[in-house]
Amino acid sequence: MNFKDYIRVIPDFPQPGIRFKDITTLLKDGAAYRAAIDALKELVKEKQIDLIAGPEARGFVVGAPLALALGVGFVPIRKSGKLPGNTVEESYDLEYGKDKLAIHSDSITPGQKVLIADDLLATGGTIATSIKLIEQLGGEVVGATFLIELGYLDGREKLQGIDVSSLITYE
Ligand code: IMP
Repeated sequence: MNFKDYIRVIPDFPQPGIRFKDITTLLKDGAAYRAAIDALKELVKEKQIDLIAGPEARGFVVGAPLALALGVGFVPIRKSGKLPGNTVEESYDLEYGKDKLAIHSDSITPGQKVLIADDLLATGGTIATSIKLIEQLGGEVVGATFLIELGYLDGREKLQGIDVSSLITYE
């Protein structure tokens, strides 16, 4: 299956000059969604994985079905203030301003092997921050996997030492 055919590119969203990769056109097609999760599973199946972690919101849409397919648990990474239990938090820079991501303090047992899943790797800022949170809890990040990678933004550079895989690349 050519997954790129299922991604809709929307020009000038959310700002002029950005060509937004919209995955909702893939998600609404049951066979394509299923095939994409199966393909991600193939990419990571040699790894030892105890947990999948995914940043909100589209990381849930990719990470949770992948966790079910692999038979492991799922841990949400959320914007600060959304998780009800005790959290650890990390600030990160956005294009304009700052934001904070959080994870439940008891969501990972030290030594657990964690795979990060998200819809799209752009600059890598979100995933670099997610890695910090997981490592603060003693988790070992065994890789990061994506439906889409924007190769021209060099997100991989920010994720040195992490095994990065993706189904679709835009150069
Ligand atoms: P990064 O932190 O720059 O790598 O940005 C990645 C985050 O931004 C991901 O969680 C994506 O959901 C979101 N994102 C950035 N660009 C796009 C896009 O073109 N389509 C969908 N999501 C995007």
